[in-house]
Parts: sequence; structure tokens; C-alpha cells
Amino acid sequence: MKQLTAEMVKDFGIGQGLDLVGVANIERFKDAPPRMHPAAIMPEARSVIVVARRILRGSWRGIEEGTYWPSYTYFGYHGLLNTLFIPAPLYETACFIEDFGWEAVPYYPGVPEAQPPEKPLRPGVVGPDVHLAIRIAGVAAGLGEMGWSKVFLTEKFGPRVRLHAIITDAELKPDPLIEPGSICDRCMLCVVGCPSDAIPNAKENKTVAIRIEDKTYEWADIRLGRCTLSYHGGDPTVSPFIHKTFPGYEFDVTKQDVTEDAAYKLCWPLSLGSWRRTDEDPSGWLIEGHAMVERWGQDGSYGIGGSRGCMRSCFDHLEKRGKTEQTFQGGAFIKRPRWILPSKVAPVETKP
Ligand code: SF4
Repeated sequence: MKQLTAEMVKDFGIGQGLDLVGVANIERFKDAPPRMHPAAIMPEARSVIVVARRILRGSWRGIEEGTYWPSYTYFGYHGLLNTLFIPAPLYETACFIEDFGWEAVPYYPGVPEAQPPEKPLRPGVVGPDVHLAIRIAGVAAGLGEMGWSKVFLTEKFGPRVRLHAIITDAELKPDPLIEPGSICDRCMLCVVGCPSDAIPNAKENKTVAIRIEDKTYEWADIRLGRCTLSYHGGDPTVSPFIHKTFPGYEFDVTKQDVTEDAAYKLCWPLSLGSWRRTDEDPSGWLIEGHAMVERWGQDGSYGIGGSRGCMRSCFDHLEKRGKTEQTFQGGAFIKRPRWILPSKVAPVETKP
């Protein structure tokens, strides 16, 4: 049988519509926690192929202008990008690998925080619900580096990518690692742009670091509870929908010190729960606007905050600095003064 090479896999994947394809050898995961290790899924794994597809810059335009939310969730997040636009070419690439006689595990980027403490099903293995840290896998595959914001940055698109992977027993030549700090310049604009104060400033000295081969990658130790509240619809400063539904309500995300899981437990029922229809709110949803956006996410995940700092501020900055290969003829992404709402939702005025 003809020999399969990394170049053949990359050329095929790009031909299928993927934007970036990189290869890590399994040795680069030697320090990964056991339930986040590719070999926990496939003990014979020799390579992890990490693929990226861009998030369209235009997916955020409506949120940046404060006028239109569905495009981001539908085209740029869970609606189609994570569930069709990446999985389809990823699947074809996995088929291509198996045509050469190597097993290929297509990997959807589940989140490691959703790992309940499960007992192993057999002695000598870890419990189920293994998830890779997909961004760290991306670093290991030479696709990019972690920005200060913990968002994955690439040379071509900056932070505007989503990642999936293929784990395989094919031994493929790994790509070179990206030099730490070659994309993120520690400008701290993600910190300034984040409405929930989820990203510590470098002065706070709160960091996480990993080592892969001879390189150390370091980023901010994100306050993930606040990040989740802001992203998934718990933050009145970035959700006009909360203001519409709960006049008189006040919630300052920057004062919250909750875990990521607790934040999910707050956001999901608040956004997607239902209640009896009343004259005050005839929709029947707790927050109708959030529930409608979630429907654009194919009844899966949804984004309300739209990553104001960690994505939008970041790629606006990197583009201006000429640090992304993709450029735009219409100039900077952030074109007007940015909107932000109060955390206190003003009560509806009633006539005496
Ligand atoms: S905005 Fe982007 S480039 Fe600037 S510090 Fe944050 S992650 Fe790094």
C-alpha cells in the first residue's frame, strides 16, 4: 500500500475546505492529564492532526454594531461551523486516512470542564468522558499559540478559528511548534475589552503555563465563571435581551466569583427556561431573545456576549499591527465607538 505522509493528509484536508491542518506526534502530549490524553481514546495513537476553520469576521458584525445576533451563533459557533462546516471536511479527511489502512478517530472538541468523576470501566484505564484540551492540541500541532486571553491564536486569522482533531495510529511527521509570543504581543486589549473582567491583567501575575518540547507557553489564568456568564447570556452589559425581559434587575458580573460550572447552571436555565405566559411577558420564555439565539445554535450552544475582548478586540488589534495574514480592504473591524450597557437594568417607566 502507498505510504501516507503528513503532506498528503494536509493537502487533502485543505482541498476539502479546511483552512489549516497541523500534525502533532503523540510524544508532545506526555504531560497531558490522563483524562485529556489522546491515548486515553486510542491507546495506539501515534499522531494527532488538528484542523482549523476560520470564523468569518462578518459573523460578529451585527453584535459589534449592537443590531443582529443570529449570524454569530449560526455561522460562527454551534449552529453550522462546529456541527457541519468543520465536521464534514474532517470526516472526509478521516476517511482518506483509513483508505491507507490507518485507523482515524474524528474528534469533536468537547470541553474538559464537562468531565464528571466517573469510575473506569476496566482496570488500568481512565474513566469515560475523556476530552482533549483542543487548544493545547492545536499548539502541539504547530497551528498557533495561546494568547494571553487563553484564546487560540493563528498567524493567518488571529483568534478567529475553531478547532477539531483526528487521532490516528499513522505515524506522521509533526509540524514545527510556533515560537511562544510570536503572535500575542501582550497588548492587554483583551483585558480592556472584556466586559466581565474575566481576564487578569499581566500585572496581577496570575498565569498558567505548559511546556511542549523546549517551549513554554503561558497565558492568563482566566476567571472562567465570569467568562461563561458573559458569553452565555448572564451579563446585562452585553445582552439587550436581559434588559427587555427583566426591567429593574441588577447583576454585575465583575463582582461574581463563581465557578465555570456554576455559571453554566445560572446561564442555561435563565436563558432557556420557560414560564407561564403573562401580559408582561407573553413569550413564555424566561429570556425570549436568548432562547431565539439558542435556536439558531440548532438547540445546542449559543453565544450572547460575542467575545467582545478576547476575540473582537484581539483580532482588531492584530490586524492593525499587520500580525494576521488575512487582511480586509474595508479597514479596521472596530469602526465606531463601542456600545456597552449598564449592569443595572432600568425599570420600565410607568405613567402615574
Ligand atoms: S488582545 Fe490578543 S494579542 Fe493582545 S494580549 Fe490579548 S490575546 Fe494577546
